[in-house]
Amino acid sequence: MTTAPTPDAVVVGSGPNGLAAAVTLAQHGLTVVVLEAHDEIGGGTRSAELTVPGVRHDVCSAIHPLGVGSPYLRSLPLADHGLVWRWPEVDLAHPLDDGTAAVLVRDLDETARGLGADGRRWRSVFGPLARSFDDVAPDVFGPVVHVPRRPVPLARFGLRAALPASVLARAFRTDAARALLAGCAAHICRPLDRPTTSAIGAALIAAGHRHGWPVAEGGSRAITDALAGLLRSLGGEIRTGVRVRSLDDLPDARVALFDTSPTGFADIARRPRPRWRYGMAAHKLDLAVRGGVPWTAEACRRAGTVHVGGTFEVIADAEARVAGGELPERPFVLVGQQYLADPSRSAGDVHPVWVYAHVPLGFAGDATSVVLEHVERYAPGLRERIVGQHVTDPVGFAAYNPNYVQGDIASGMVSVPQLVRRAPYATGVPGVYLCSSSTAPGPGVHGMCGHRAALRALADLDRVRS
Ligand SMILES: Cc1cc2nc3c(=O)[nH]c(=O)nc-3n(C[C@H](O)[C@H](O)[C@H](O)COP(=O)(O)OP(=O)(O)OC[C@H]3O[C@@H](n4cnc5c(N)ncnc54)[C@H](O)[C@@H]3O)c2cc1C
Repeated sequence: MTTAPTPDAVVVGSGPNGLAAAVTLAQHGLTVVVLEAHDEIGGGTRSAELTVPGVRHDVCSAIHPLGVGSPYLRSLPLADHGLVWRWPEVDLAHPLDDGTAAVLVRDLDETARGLGADGRRWRSVFGPLARSFDDVAPDVFGPVVHVPRRPVPLARFGLRAALPASVLARAFRTDAARALLAGCAAHICRPLDRPTTSAIGAALIAAGHRHGWPVAEGGSRAITDALAGLLRSLGGEIRTGVRVRSLDDLPDARVALFDTSPTGFADIARRPRPRWRYGMAAHKLDLAVRGGVPWTAEACRRAGTVHVGGTFEVIADAEARVAGGELPERPFVLVGQQYLADPSRSAGDVHPVWVYAHVPLGFAGDATSVVLEHVERYAPGLRERIVGQHVTDPVGFAAYNPNYVQGDIASGMVSVPQLVRRAPYATGVPGVYLCSSSTAPGPGVHGMCGHRAALRALADLDRVRS
């Protein structure tokens, strides 16, 4: 009988961070095996026909300003493995109650022109961040506590990022600019008056003005396939249908990296669970919509992403209520119309529409009608056009991926103490590391958590060798 050779490294989980970790290790000459619990690879970066045959939906991630702007992903030859980014005409639209919409496009000046009285201010706040985005990205996408490579532009970014979004919003007077900021800041899944809630908003806006908010041709799964193809070309192996339940399940490798939450890892390692707080949950609707969403504001009909939430104040109120355990009447909702950039996902005039709302952690009620009613405020007649629907509630998310504890798709609250705690990657078990989005720099499809965790593991291996 022949036995498989022992790999140098094992990675548990094939989300974008698991695959980025595996590619980094393989680039440094290690033999790598990835073990994935599901029959399909990709974690939060998968696509599937969830509703109507021929209509392709993104199961989790959809819009990729952080992917196209990621210093590590940009360094990889992912185009050689099939990854093509596609941009919608309008990157982001935010409808308001008066029937207009605030609009963000890659062109900073065009965005500023659309923001009227706040245009100049928008340019002066976000222009320098956008222009220095590529320079500061390695620091922005790094641990919170570290020695920066580019201290001056990073300090400029950091000053704004440290503010609560509610304070940064005071820079603007118009509902449009304030709402645009609120929608981007709300990606952090925290009440907007908390410290650092500007961080993700500023990063998404700066990335948008630098690189746009693209989608992956064919679906987000194409990002996974490109990373997996690159890994295999470097000699790596991926085994699916293998759920790791104990450290004893691992092959006898020199290092092991876990693309899991800290609490999930603690259960596997039979250790006490660390203090790790989860934030908000998601309630997601994948809709097949004949003729697309009938938005009142014309710009929304051309936008890859639409933030539904109304004014800054309404979004801030909604996020505060959700954090307090209440489902608001007007929750913050993100709508993805990836098919506008990538028509291959539609079947004739039936289009996939990706919708998710922030709801309380572990929310057990049915938020579907609240979400659809809220979107209909800005797109009356939507429900009549829906020909297929697939619902994933917080319980469904937790069952789909053990990292989404109680439906928290960020795998942990993005608060100041946890931002600091996300940094170390080491688990306390020698040679074993966390590499998921629960580590620095946090959620999103950018691969930087996996890449940095792998660098840490490689540095430790070098130290042991010398
Ligand atoms: C609804 C939704 C929308 C999102 N939208 C966006 C977006 O538009 N843009 C964006 O950038 N990000 C988005 N995200 C976030 C993004 O998907 C995640 O931050 C990212 O996928 C995290 O990657 P990861 O590799 O850390 O973990 P995951 O992608 O969660 O992958 C972890 C993998 O590990 C596997 N695993 C876990 N435990 C075990 C085990 N014990 N044994 C074996 N395998 C195991 C899981 O099955 C999974 O495949 C979204 C997420 C969701 C859910």
